[in-house]
Amino acid sequence: MNDTLKGMVYGLAVGDALGVPYEFCDRDTFTCTGMTGGGTWRQPAGTWSDDTSMTLATMDSIADCGGVDIDDMREKFRAWAHGDAYTCNGETFDIGNTTREALRLGRGLDDEYSNGNGSLMRILPLAFVPGVTVEEVEAVSAITHAHRFSQACCWELVTDAIRLIDGEAPAHSDLQRDEIRSGGYVGDTLAAARWCVGTASSYAEAVLLAVNLGGDTDTTAAVAGGLAGIVWGYDAIPEAWLAALRNKDEIERVLSRWPF
Ligand SMILES: [Mg+2]
Repeated sequence: MNDTLKGMVYGLAVGDALGVPYEFCDRDTFTCTGMTGGGTWRQPAGTWSDDTSMTLATMDSIADCGGVDIDDMREKFRAWAHGDAYTCNGETFDIGNTTREALRLGRGLDDEYSNGNGSLMRILPLAFVPGVTVEEVEAVSAITHAHRFSQACCWELVTDAIRLIDGEAPAHSDLQRDEIRSGGYVGDTLAAARWCVGTASSYAEAVLLAVNLGGDTDTTAAVAGGLAGIVWGYDAIPEAWLAALRNKDEIERVLSRWPF
């Protein structure tokens, strides 16, 4: 198994779990310093959410099909949304409106209001598919988020990730914290994740910066954490956070199927 991939997946899941208790909390009304339970979803510490579930479903589909198969991927997303597949605790407690509606309809929404971060949160595995194309990344986004802007943001994140996998350093950001928005808009999540990774000097710093931006804390930290896991590697993720992470068996099951 590819160690960089392991860093991405655990980096994303740990970021997600760090952010879950603070989802929807305003910036600077709390300080996240580590894994904790309770809060927004009243879940135990280490609980990960849709961001990780859909990332695992994406990886499982690619492993099953030997590449990107949109219909199979949609079915695996449905198995998560309507059942308990790919969950940390047998419960789907966090699903975006666009994702729910798109899975019901069988096609992604393409109006300008359907530009939440619901496809960005699950797109990073595509960076590990050899020879992945822009058309494939856009089609994977469009399972739920079919607007051009969501598709473009997904491609930008995948190409960022590919550069980091190839050993490039993250781009430094000159932006100040108060210039970074951290709600559920896909463009804001992409910019915020880039800012966290480009500002931090460690995995832990990157994900704590992300959670403490407030707003869509789990998704911002999942995307930032996925990138940070590529940059600093699995071994840089604090052991206590990994120890607290729930249902690592499911993460390991999916990881063990790659390379596919
Ligand atoms: Mg979530």
